[in-house]
Amino acid sequence: MIPEHLNEWQAELNRLDASGSLRRLRTIQTDGSKTLVNGRPMLNLCSNDYLGFAQDRELQQKFFENCSESNALSHFGMGASSSRLLCGNHPPYQELEDDIEQAYGKPALFFNSGYHANLGILPVLAQKGDLILSDKLNHASITDGLRLSQADFLRYRHLDYEHLEKLLRKKRSQYKRVFIVTESVFSMDGDAANLPSLCKTAKVYGAFLYVDEAHSIGVRGERGLGLAEEQGVLNDIDLLVAPFGKAMASQGAFAVCHKTIKDYLINHMRPFIFTTALPPVTVSWNRFIFRHMLQAKEKRAELNRLERFARKCLNKTPFSSPSESNILPVIVGDNQQCVILAEHLQKMGFLALPVRPPTVPKGTARLRVSLTAQLKEEELDSFFNTLHSLAYENGLVNPSEQ
Ligand code: PMP
Repeated sequence: MIPEHLNEWQAELNRLDASGSLRRLRTIQTDGSKTLVNGRPMLNLCSNDYLGFAQDRELQQKFFENCSESNALSHFGMGASSSRLLCGNHPPYQELEDDIEQAYGKPALFFNSGYHANLGILPVLAQKGDLILSDKLNHASITDGLRLSQADFLRYRHLDYEHLEKLLRKKRSQYKRVFIVTESVFSMDGDAANLPSLCKTAKVYGAFLYVDEAHSIGVRGERGLGLAEEQGVLNDIDLLVAPFGKAMASQGAFAVCHKTIKDYLINHMRPFIFTTALPPVTVSWNRFIFRHMLQAKEKRAELNRLERFARKCLNKTPFSSPSESNILPVIVGDNQQCVILAEHLQKMGFLALPVRPPTVPKGTARLRVSLTAQLKEEELDSFFNTLHSLAYENGLVNPSEQ
C-alpha cells in the first residue's frame, strides 16, 4: 500500500465529515416495536418494513412450521450453490414466480435484489440508437442502470410530464426505441407518479414504460400489488419491478413483463446470469410473505390511518413535506442543520436519519421519516412535538413564527 493513496482517501473522508456528509454504520437490533441502536432503545422512524412483517415473530414461526424432513433442504436450505442458470434454481423459485404471475396475470422473473434488477434490465433492453427518459429523482439503482446502458439518456424534471412530452416531441423520431422510467412512489420525497398519464404518453409516442414499485408494493392497491393496481393500469405497464426488501420483509426482487422480455433477460442480463442465487429459504419466505401480503388489507388500512395522523402532526411544525404516501420526508434544507437535528432526536430516543446530497438535490437535506404499521399515534405525536421544539431551540425557525 502506498501511504500517499491512503492519505488522499482519508483527506476525502475528513472533507465529508466536515461538511456533515460522512456516512457511518450503526448496529441495529430490532425486537418487536423496540429498536436498539448501538444498544440504546429508540423509536424506529426510518424502517422500510412498512407493514411490520419483518418484526412479526408469529409470522416467522408460522413460516418455519412448514419445514419438514422432506423439504428442509429443497425449501429451507441456506445455500443455493450456484447461479440460477447452473444448479441454483431450486423449486421455490418456480413456485414464487408462478404465484406472482397469477397475481399480476403476466410472467414474472425473480432477481437477487432490486439493485440487481435496475442495474441489469435497462442495459439489456435499451441499446445503441435507443433513448431512455428517466425521472430526475429516480433511485440510484435506476441511474446506474441507465449509465451502464449503451442507449442515450435524458432526465426529465421530477414528475413534470409536460417536460417529458416536450422531450418526446423533440427526440422520438431520432431513436428506434424509447424507454420512460419512473418510480411509482418516490423513495426520498414520498410523492407519487401519475401512472395513467404516463401510460397514455407512452402509448402516444410508442415508448416502453418501466415502473419501479419498490415503495408501493404491499402498501398500495387492493391486493397490495402497488400503485399500478391502485391507479388501475396494471395491464398498461410494459415492465414493473418490485423489490422484496421493503414491505415484504425479505430480500430479492421481481419483474413482471411479457414472456419474450423475461426470456430475453434470462439470456442476456448480467446481474441475473453471473451471480449466485439467493438461498432456497429466502425464496420460500418470499413466497410465503407474498401470499400473506395479498391478504393484508387491514395492515394497509392501518398504515393509511397513521399516515393521515402523521400528516396532521407535521402540519403543526414549521416543516413541510412533498409526501403523498407513508414516506414522510421532513425537509430541513441545510446539511449540517439536518444532521444536528437528527442527532438531537436520536439523543431523545427517535431514530430519524438525515438524508443529504448527493442522495437528494442540494439544499434539500431532510429527515426521511418512514411510517410503518407498527407505530402508534401517541409515539408519532411525541416525535412531532419534539421535532417542533428542537426546530425552535436550534434556531432553525425564527421564534416570531412560533
Ligand atoms: N428501487 C428503489 C426505488 C429503491 O428505493 C431501492 C432500495 N432502496 C431499490 C430499488 C433497490 O432494492 P434492493 O434494496 O432490493 O436492492
